[in-house]
Amino acid sequence: MVYDIGIIGGGTAGMTAAVYGQRAGKRTIMIEGMNYGGQITVSPKVENYPGIASVSGAEFSMNLLDQAMGLGAETELEQVTGIHEEGGLKVIETEGKEYPCRTVIIATGVSHRHLGLEKEEKLMGAGVSYCATCDGAFFKGKDVAVIGGGNTALQDADFLSNYCNKVYLVHRRDEFRGEAGLVEPLKKKDNVEFVLSATVKDILGENVVEGLVINNKKTGEDFQISVSGVFVAIGQVPDNQAFSGLVDLDETGFVAASEDCMTSRPGIFAAGDCRTKGVRQLTTAAADGAVAALAACKYISMQET
Ligand code: NAP
Repeated sequence: MVYDIGIIGGGTAGMTAAVYGQRAGKRTIMIEGMNYGGQITVSPKVENYPGIASVSGAEFSMNLLDQAMGLGAETELEQVTGIHEEGGLKVIETEGKEYPCRTVIIATGVSHRHLGLEKEEKLMGAGVSYCATCDGAFFKGKDVAVIGGGNTALQDADFLSNYCNKVYLVHRRDEFRGEAGLVEPLKKKDNVEFVLSATVKDILGENVVEGLVINNKKTGEDFQISVSGVFVAIGQVPDNQAFSGLVDLDETGFVAASEDCMTSRPGIFAAGDCRTKGVRQLTTAAADGAVAALAACKYISMQET
């Protein structure tokens, strides 16, 4: 069985590529390692996708998955370990199987950046979380901290303030990177406290999170806050090492590809947050999925002539 388009990753970019691939009459398979939908599934509200005033991330991604599967896209839940070339085809490798494809679209997205603190890994699931919408309910009535100053941290602080007794929003600068429209409502909440120009030096607690040691960057002083939960929302990092032998990555691990989604290897394309780009949004992920799938179709036509 040879697929026309093999898509690695089942987030917005991958699923959009599957829609475009199937609509162009190509046999398409999408291989996802964890859960279909990608990052957006945990966004409580999406209000910046053109034509949709407001939708939950989960509903958005399930609709997109239904659309791709309804058009006949095949799907597999497997971890991709690499790609190799054989007999003019690109072969996607997983732990147990191989999927020969005429073209491949890498749409692996990004994963959560970690603070890099000693206790962070140890207390993951015991108070350290990277997903407020997934774990927030466990902290009902408790005091928690959100770390970060982007849209995710702002949205997480807002979401948690509805459940928790107190939410500390700890950010390393005085100004937020995220949108002012998300900052203003937080200022009005009695149970949200901004801790600015501050970095987390240590997580307290042996078996569960009990608090944080914070460093005030302006005064240089350390102080402690008591919290049962710490939600780390400091951005994302790519995970493309499995493809590093075949396509060029930039120095931070993103697949080197421009707006045409072409990688350094003919027939392999990169779509969405996993590639080098200036704006990582739902709209740009969807746009990349379309661009990459149409480029893959064009590549297949050129190979056939
Ligand atoms: P982000 O925009 O990259 O923000 C990451 C934040 O974490 C920044 O404030 C950064 O500080 C801070 N940070 C990074 N490394 C740190 C470290 N080692 N220690 C402490 N703080 C650190 O990430 P994001 O909030 O996850 O958002 C990712 C993308 O998704 C963005 O484009 C965002 O707009 C988008 N998004 C959109 C929505 C929406 O529109 N509804 C919701 C969520 C996310 P500095 O500011 O000092 O660099």
